[in-house]
Amino acid sequence: MPKIVKERFTDQLGGGRLALPSLVQAFDAYVAQSFDQRSKEFVETTEQQEEVKERSLLADPLLDYLADPTLRDRANVLRGVDLRVRRGRSYESLIDDLHQLSANIALKICSGRAVSVDRFDFVLWIALLVAWTPSLRSVATEGHDGAIHPNEFLQIVDQLLRDFATRQTSDGRDRLAGVWDRIGDVSRAPRDNDQDELGLEQCLVELLGRQGTYEPEWVVRLRAIFCLDETQLLAASPTPSGSGHDEGRFSARLFDEIVGRDAAVAAVKERFGAARHTPLFIYGPDGVGKKTFARAYARAFMCTGRAEADYLSCGRCGVCMAFDNGVLGYVELEGAAHGSSLDSVRGWLRDMKYFRAFAERNAVILENPERAGGLIDTLLKTLEERHKATLFIACGREINSLRATGVSRSEVHRFARLSNADAESLVARFCSHYGQRLLPGPVLDLVLEKGGGLPRRLAEACANVCGGTVITAEDAGKVLGFGWIGGVIATWTSLLGATWTEPSTLISDHEGASLGVADQMRATLTHIAPGNVGREPALPSWRRHSRALTHLADEMAKRAASTGQSYDSLWGRLSAFWCLDHVDLVGQRQAFMETRRILRGNTQWAA
Ligand SMILES: [Zn+2]
Repeated sequence: MPKIVKERFTDQLGGGRLALPSLVQAFDAYVAQSFDQRSKEFVETTEQQEEVKERSLLADPLLDYLADPTLRDRANVLRGVDLRVRRGRSYESLIDDLHQLSANIALKICSGRAVSVDRFDFVLWIALLVAWTPSLRSVATEGHDGAIHPNEFLQIVDQLLRDFATRQTSDGRDRLAGVWDRIGDVSRAPRDNDQDELGLEQCLVELLGRQGTYEPEWVVRLRAIFCLDETQLLAASPTPSGSGHDEGRFSARLFDEIVGRDAAVAAVKERFGAARHTPLFIYGPDGVGKKTFARAYARAFMCTGRAEADYLSCGRCGVCMAFDNGVLGYVELEGAAHGSSLDSVRGWLRDMKYFRAFAERNAVILENPERAGGLIDTLLKTLEERHKATLFIACGREINSLRATGVSRSEVHRFARLSNADAESLVARFCSHYGQRLLPGPVLDLVLEKGGGLPRRLAEACANVCGGTVITAEDAGKVLGFGWIGGVIATWTSLLGATWTEPSTLISDHEGASLGVADQMRATLTHIAPGNVGREPALPSWRRHSRALTHLADEMAKRAASTGQSYDSLWGRLSAFWCLDHVDLVGQRQAFMETRRILRGNTQWAA
C-alpha cells in the first residue's frame, strides 16, 4: 500500500493492537472514508467533512437503491450503515439518520425537484420504514446490554431493503400486503418526543397530500390511515386485500413437500448427513421446479435451528421466519444480468465477500448459468476455498448450459417432467389450498393435460380451476384455455355447410386460443385423419369433443362421396392446403374460400 496511507492509518489506530480480522475491518473503514470513490484520491478530512462524507456514503447508495434496487446498492447501503456503527454511532442515531435521509428525499419530491425515485416507490419506502422501525428500535435498545449480536441490526436493515425491492416490483397488487397491521400499530402508538416517527408520518402526509387521478388501492388506504381523522377513517373502512394471495404460496418450503424428486432429495439428505455441500447443478425445462428445490435446500442449509445432520429446516429460527423476504447471505442471481461483463462479475464477487463477512452461512442460486459467461468458474473457484460455509446451486435448462469445468466441479441432477401419478398428487396438494378436496375426473384430466408435468403450470391450472366457479369439464375447458377447440370444430363444420358466410370474428380470437388459425385448422384435421376416424382422441381436451369430431368426419365422408372423391384423397388435399399458413399468406377469408373450393372437389390443390 502507498506509504502515506500506511502512515496515516497507523496514526488513526493510535498505536493500539488489533486482531487481524478487526484490523482488516478497521482498514476497510478507513479507506472507505478517506478516499473519494469518484476521483480515487486520498482526501484530507476534518471532523466535519468526515461527518458529511459519512452521511453521503449512506445517502447516495440509498437514493440509488430506491431508484433501482440492485444487489450492489444494497451492499453499499449496508456498508454505509456498518461504517457508522464502527465509528461508534449508536443504533438509535442510525435509525434517526435513515429517517432524516428519507425525509430529505421526501422534501425534494414534494418541492418538485428532480429526484430519480418514483413517487409511489418512495411512498412505499416510507411506509415500510414506518412498519420496520419498531423492529429496528427493539434491536437498538436491547443492543445496549450487549445481548444482541452486533449484526442483528444490519440483518434487519438488509431485510427492510429486500422487502422494498420485492414489493416495488409487485405492480398492480397490494404493495403493502402483510404489513398493514404493523403500519396501523405505529400510526396508533403513543410515542415519546425524541423519536422521529412523527417526522416520517409527516412525510407521508405531505407525499400523499395531493390526490392523483389514478392511485392504486394501497395508496388510497395509506392516505386513509395517515391523512384522515378518526371519523373519516371509520367511514372509509378500508378492507384488507391482497394478503394471502402472494405468488409462490404453493411453493414447497421443505423437502417433505417436494413431489417426484426422490433421487435428488436422497442425495441432499446424504449431503446433510456428511456435512458436505459441494456445488449442485440442476437442469430441466422451465417450470419443472428447479428453483423451488434449490430454495428448499438453501433454506435448510442456512437454518440455524436444526440439528447439523437434519435436512429439514426448523421453521422457527430467524432465518426460517425471514427466508421468504430474503436473509443476509442468501443471493439469487440471474446469469444474464450478472454474467455480461467481467466488471459486473468482479463487482459482484466483491459484494459477495462483503455479505459473507456478516452471515455465518451463505447460499447462492444462479439461474440461467449459460448466460453467465465466465462467472461460474470464477465463482466456483472462490467458493471452493470455503465451501463448508457457502452453498452454490446453478439451475439451467440444458446439461450443456453449465460449461465443462463447472459441471466437473458439481453434482448434477436432471429434473424431468413429472409422471402423471406425481402430477396428480401435486394437484391434490394445490387444490387442498383452496379447500377443494377432489377434482372430478374429467376436470382433473384437463388440469393434468394443461400442466404437462410441470409444477408451475399445474399450479396455475389449479388456481384457474379452483379460483372461480368451475363445476363441469366444459367450464374447466374454458378457464384452462381449451375453449378454441369447440370453436375450430364448429368452423370446419360450417365450411361443409350448403351456404357459408364468413364468421364475423377471426377464429384466432377463439377463447383461450394459444395457436394461430392454421395450427388450429391442422390440429382438427389430424383428429379426423383417415386412420384416426372413430378413434377416441388421446388428449382429454379433444376427447370431450369426440362426438363433434365424429359428426365432422361423417359430413366430410358425405362430401367426398358426393364429389366423387375418396375420403383419403379429400383429406389429403385439405392437409396439403393447410400445410402452408394460408391465413398468413392471403388472409382468413381467402383461405376459407379456397377450403370450400377444395371441399367441392374444384381446385388445383392435389394431394
Ligand atoms: Zn430454521
